[in-house]
Amino acid sequence: MGRRARLFVVSGPAGVGKGTLVSLVREARPSIGVTVSATTRTPRPGEVEGVSYYYMSDEEFERRVAAGEFLEWAQVHDHRYGTLKSEVERFLAKGNSVILEIDVQGGDNVRRVFPDAVRIFVEPPSWEVLVERLRGRGTESEASLKLRLKNARRELDYAHTYDVRIVNDDLDEAVEKLMQTLEKYENE
Ligand code: 5GP
Repeated sequence: MGRRARLFVVSGPAGVGKGTLVSLVREARPSIGVTVSATTRTPRPGEVEGVSYYYMSDEEFERRVAAGEFLEWAQVHDHRYGTLKSEVERFLAKGNSVILEIDVQGGDNVRRVFPDAVRIFVEPPSWEVLVERLRGRGTESEASLKLRLKNARRELDYAHTYDVRIVNDDLDEAVEKLMQTLEKYENE
């Protein structure tokens, strides 16, 4: 039986390690697509336009929302983030699955537009570990850290609405579980 290209949503609070997990899975399965999101926030040091995000002004983001170019978008923290339809289509059209790494509001919106999407939630082993990881990242101001922690609590409340939950404690195990999940649903 052939594999079916599917749309996967990966959500979880900031600092939980979604990005690391997704990039490791991508190394093991280079054919899988990962969408580059659009955002109105400014780049962090080391981030690259078109690789980390497409950075847009509020005006451009607004215009493209109005033009119907987004599959989903949401206000997260102080900025807007969204997935362009063109990003998803370029993978699915080639018969490859695609992963959207997006927040829980975006995850909810995708479910409505794409009921077939498989939604995966990445959880920290504990709240304390998440706080540690967010502090350790060192890229946040104290105010921004506070806001992210508040949002992280809210995001964790959505975990039970997801199809699959993965605890990111041991990284290798979490990668393995994510790989198995992708394969399971592609072969469904
Ligand atoms: P960060 O600013 O740390 O890169 O991302 C902040 C949050 O925005 C994360 O929770 C991330 O999942 C979410 N996010 C990133 N891209 C998208 C997107 O395209 N759509 C939605 N809804 N959320 C996104």
